[in-house]
Amino acid sequence: MSAHLDLEESEPDVATDGVWLTCIECGEQFAPFAEIRYTCDHCDGLLEVRYADLPTWEDFGGASTPESGPYGVWRYSAALPFEEGVSLPEGGTPLHYVPRLEEETGVNTLRVKHEGMNPTGSFKDRGMTVGVRVAREVGVDRLACASTGNTSAALAAYGARAGMETLVLLPAGKVAAGKVAQASLHGARILEVDGNFDSCLDIVQDLAARGEAYLLNSLNPFRLEGQKTIGLEIMERFHADEGRYPDRIVLPVGNAGNTAALYKCFRELRKVGAIDDDEVPKLTGVQAENSAPMVEAIEEGNDEVRRWENVETRATAIRIGNPVNAPKALPGIRETGGTAVAVSDEEITDAQRSLAEEGVGVEPASAASIAGLRKLRETGEIEADEDVVCLTTGHLLKDPDAAYEAGGEPEPVPNDTEAVLDHLGE
Ligand SMILES: *Cc1c(COP(=O)(O)O)cnc(C)c1O
Ligand SMILES: [Zn+2]
Repeated sequence: MSAHLDLEESEPDVATDGVWLTCIECGEQFAPFAEIRYTCDHCDGLLEVRYADLPTWEDFGGASTPESGPYGVWRYSAALPFEEGVSLPEGGTPLHYVPRLEEETGVNTLRVKHEGMNPTGSFKDRGMTVGVRVAREVGVDRLACASTGNTSAALAAYGARAGMETLVLLPAGKVAAGKVAQASLHGARILEVDGNFDSCLDIVQDLAARGEAYLLNSLNPFRLEGQKTIGLEIMERFHADEGRYPDRIVLPVGNAGNTAALYKCFRELRKVGAIDDDEVPKLTGVQAENSAPMVEAIEEGNDEVRRWENVETRATAIRIGNPVNAPKALPGIRETGGTAVAVSDEEITDAQRSLAEEGVGVEPASAASIAGLRKLRETGEIEADEDVVCLTTGHLLKDPDAAYEAGGEPEPVPNDTEAVLDHLGE
């Protein structure tokens, strides 16, 4: 792993209230809020938020006691840079039982952490509640992101909540209807780029570098702090229900921000002794087969991820060819003993239907986790005795067109009860 992912460093004199930024490549440390930066000044490496004091379960109010705060991102403020953020509120999402899928996949336990139940319908809200709070701290007035859709919906809502101007860059014609509708109604300026997500991100990074806007893509290390609470919630609640931690977490991968955030969560819990080394869940990433640069890097054992120029999948939220958080996420998959797997669009739609049959409505990208679990059960890489949590990242209504295509057709009937009964009796 990259030498500076080990969290072993002393508090530097650049820290503010015990918080600072460290470059994961060269180890250079920076003050967190004095100046705006997204990557290392020296080597352009990714930055990670570091803390002088990391919390244990007790610091969150004691696991699942009446004294602990409500479930949600800010329950875990002891693990975050601030006591509270710009909140709607977010997190506290269900960890569903899915008995039919558990039986079918033949694992010991299967739970589904449905992040589509966040305020704007995706896990991006967890990142924005922290990220927009930081934007306030550094005193900017315009926020921006590139997005396959959900980031723009979340940023638009949190920007509106904070009373800040919001700019979103979307790949023209490639964003699901529900997401554009959200960004639009929450008042973001929507710039449609004639290019793919990766081109949008190139442009918005240029704008941020010129001081035109504060960047809230997952390159921003503070967003990943908020998203790390997905891991804290899964660990705390799975343990409360089952008396042990899950063996594996399976998740869809786009820019690999969540993979990086979960890995950081586990490193921090391990560092304070809240979990043992052998209790770290195996991070298992799933991509769509025509959009799978992370899978390629894992399968070929490469340290770097090759940028795929032409990516395509019905799962538009993970239609990404250049995962910016790969340097954080690849070590996460490898160090936890996980893996990565690619699935077809057809397998994604099948999984979307199966989740819907359990009452869990998700958008296509989310269903990739279940499709990946199925595939890895077939190859035997995931074993029958495992306790598995699949992450579903976004809500069904995000992409009504995909849901409609995957579901059944409405049946036209005459405006008459007898005729409807006849129709039903056919
Ligand atoms: C953003 C998003 C992803 C990809 O997450 P990364 O952290 O970029 O890997 C997956 N699914 C949905 C629904 C998303 O909105
Ligand atoms: Zn550096």
